[in-house]
Amino acid sequence: MIEWSEPQRMIQKMVRDFVEKEVVPNLDDIEYNGVPPYEILRKMIKTFGMDAMAKQNFEKQIARDKARAAGEEPERKEKDEDEEGGSGGEQAAMTMIPVIELSRHAQGLVTAMGVSMGLTGGAIMGKGTIEQKERWALPLLTMEKVGAWAISEPNSGSDAFGQMKAVARRDGDGYVINGSKTWITNGPYADTIVLICKLAEDGVEPADRKIVSFILDSGMEGLEQSKPFKKMGIGSSPTGELFLSDVKVGRDRLLGGSEDSYGRSGAKATFMQERAGVAAMALGMVERALELSVEYAKDRKQFGRPIGDNQLIQLKLAKMEVARMNLQNLVFRYVETMAQGKTMTMAEASAMKLYAAQTAMEVTTEAVQVFGGFGYMRESRVEQLMRDAKILQIYAGTDEMQIIAIARDLLAR
Ligand SMILES: Cc1cc2nc3c(=O)[nH]c(=O)nc-3n(C[C@H](O)[C@H](O)[C@H](O)COP(=O)(O)OP(=O)(O)OC[C@H]3O[C@@H](n4cnc5c(N)ncnc54)[C@H](O)[C@@H]3O)c2cc1C
Repeated sequence: MIEWSEPQRMIQKMVRDFVEKEVVPNLDDIEYNGVPPYEILRKMIKTFGMDAMAKQNFEKQIARDKARAAGEEPERKEKDEDEEGGSGGEQAAMTMIPVIELSRHAQGLVTAMGVSMGLTGGAIMGKGTIEQKERWALPLLTMEKVGAWAISEPNSGSDAFGQMKAVARRDGDGYVINGSKTWITNGPYADTIVLICKLAEDGVEPADRKIVSFILDSGMEGLEQSKPFKKMGIGSSPTGELFLSDVKVGRDRLLGGSEDSYGRSGAKATFMQERAGVAAMALGMVERALELSVEYAKDRKQFGRPIGDNQLIQLKLAKMEVARMNLQNLVFRYVETMAQGKTMTMAEASAMKLYAAQTAMEVTTEAVQVFGGFGYMRESRVEQLMRDAKILQIYAGTDEMQIIAIARDLLAR
């Protein structure tokens, strides 16, 4: 794959038009004035029939799960073509295109949507019981409800499991959960929360405790959701804290229905999914930074000629184009990988995330430089791209943690 196909380009154009019409005029509200992003996202999902597609896929998966539970081998059509929306590659392309287009203007929208539909809905669809999927997943997959996926705590970020303090204790047939979570995307507005914590058992050292996850609903007794934090960037993605004080849950809320069903590997599968999406976000931001920079380099005159006539500015633009091409190739590679029904290794996904995050930061910083003083002003929009890019180096595993993952893999060969 070296370029989007004709039908994919048509979708790209339609999404771009939607973003120009519905997102751009509301940017200040969603980025700076505290207007939650969910109505715009719901409108996009409806406009492009993503909700109907999610519903059809959901129903097919439930039917397959039920057949499997009844001991029948579910019928599968040709490889990769049993989901609505076409092959694995086609679906991956259809996911990447809106991510790229939204990230050109408001990467926070992608974060809010990705955490709700992909991480929270995806965790329930991937690890939940049939009953849990039927009870919680569909409204998340259609964005009718907002989801949050909570692992980070004040003292446990990169070392997510090692220092985790939130615990569930067995209590009769259910559990009682205590602890707090921080920097949680959609935390302030989430209707459904997948909460990852440790299981406290007598005689088991904290470091050896099992990892378990629960599905919580907003408004449960003892669960408090904070107001959104004020952040450097991605204002269109609300981020907050969760406090749990003696939250009583039944076993029906234990993800997967068993204390062994989610665990460390469940959370790791989610990390991998997150990492792959970052290349698409970076591509959108880099494309936009480059376009704006080229335009400005032609228009802005100093010393009697456009600043783009200077080789120092040309070098910046040329490096931005190299970055754009590399990111696009990574996105195409991901689509091809999915088309062939393959998965990425953790190291590959980490390498992709590391490169994408660093590149987005470098390119957007250089874009601000091309714009000079105007680049420091909000109206230039490149300053927002630069602030938005920084988060890619921090969440879904910091740059340093990606480096460790890649190096570990190399050294283990
Ligand atoms: C906007 C935003 C949204 C987020 N959304 C979510 C969410 O929805 N759900 C969720 O659970 N979490 C979320 N997070 C949390 C995010 O995943 C963590 O911030 C991230 O994992 C880093 O953890 P930390 O902030 O505790 O940094 P720390 O782990 O304290 O790291 C601080 C610094 O030390 C470095 N470091 C740490 N350990 C090592 C090491 N062994 N070797 C070298 N360097 C190291 C780090 O790379 C970093 O540079 C979000 C964060 C932000 C800012």
